[in-house]
Amino acid sequence: MFQINENYLQLNQSYLFSTIATKVEKFSSSHFGADLIRLGIGDVTLPLSPAVINALHRAVDEMAAKETFRGYGPEQGYGFLREKIAEIDFRQRGIDISADEIFVSDGSKSDTGNIGDILGDDNVVAITNPVYPVYLDTYIMRIGKSDKLLLLSCNAENGFLPEIPSERVDVIYLCYPNNPTGTVMTKTELKKWVDWALENDALILYDAAYEAYVQDEDMAKSIYEIENAQQCAIEFRSYSKNAGFTGLRCSYTVVPEALKVRTQNGEQVSLHGLWNRRQSTKFNGTAYVVQRAAEAVYSSQGQLEMREMVGYYMHNAKLIRDGLIEKGWTLFGGENAPYIWLKCPGDMDSWTFFDRLLAECHIVGTPGVGFGSAGEGYFRLTAFNSREKTAEAVERIKKWEC
Ligand code: PLP
Repeated sequence: MFQINENYLQLNQSYLFSTIATKVEKFSSSHFGADLIRLGIGDVTLPLSPAVINALHRAVDEMAAKETFRGYGPEQGYGFLREKIAEIDFRQRGIDISADEIFVSDGSKSDTGNIGDILGDDNVVAITNPVYPVYLDTYIMRIGKSDKLLLLSCNAENGFLPEIPSERVDVIYLCYPNNPTGTVMTKTELKKWVDWALENDALILYDAAYEAYVQDEDMAKSIYEIENAQQCAIEFRSYSKNAGFTGLRCSYTVVPEALKVRTQNGEQVSLHGLWNRRQSTKFNGTAYVVQRAAEAVYSSQGQLEMREMVGYYMHNAKLIRDGLIEKGWTLFGGENAPYIWLKCPGDMDSWTFFDRLLAECHIVGTPGVGFGSAGEGYFRLTAFNSREKTAEAVERIKKWEC
């Protein structure tokens, strides 16, 4: 009889967002006409910007003509996009990353999930608790629940930032600005992690999907702003939250040439080569039209529109922060991130708060415990809804007697 990968049976079956959807559906069917405001799921609401739309139209026309039609493209991404990324996201910021070190993809979810393909099974892997669930679930899919998986607890005492582990760790996932807590690391804090990784021959998997939301100068947008990080870190970037590509799908991963590892028999191997091999074998590239759209994000108009889009959501984040602070609630995030992480008032647990916020304010958010046990008693609100709906939600919360 054939066998399955039984690690899948170890996964938490009740997926957070489907549980939320079921609860919301039940509420809606018994409260017909209730004006629900969704500050839960991390999807964007603004449409794609004109520069992106124009580039898409042009690329579609190219695909319609015999002379300019494109079939399979390079698995690593087209040179026109990789060059722009290297120049504008890195070299103009004083970071020496070349186009060859960039792998264009269809989403950071895929890449943060797939990166485990090039890593060994015996690594001690650390993830934060709470966490973006993809890191945890893809680890379990590959290895199963294991004592080699270490959860680094993030809580109010440590400001929802993990502490450097005292025990052996080979691989760590870091995500800043953070989903779900909205917290950020200063360059000084990030340097400690880079120094630790270099000293311990560890690998940092750095998810910078929200880098565009970084406002403060002393926060890093890229881990490569830290000296020597190219020897110990892979960075993931996405166009989902800065340019609204959640439905279009485009991202990239940086695997520096300087990132080397020794095999068990002492041979030095480049992770860049392994990821290149992995992508060339299992991935046939991001759509040409989508890569042209991503390229347009780097035009001067595209950059302007991207800043406007991020500014719009950041203003929403400020409305939420200010409203909740006025109410006297304790919160994290929302200053360099589109997420606000609040302590449920009155020591409510995350799901009780979810149920009450839904029933009494008609607002949908995300229970912190859904991101890990250390999220219990916390709640995530997102800044991705419209200005009007966000402002209305804040007014409802301000009037709420809970
Ligand atoms: N990484 C983090 C931390 C995220 O929150 C998300 C999406 O919400 C992603 C990656 C996925 O991004 P993409 O849309 O590029 O797959």
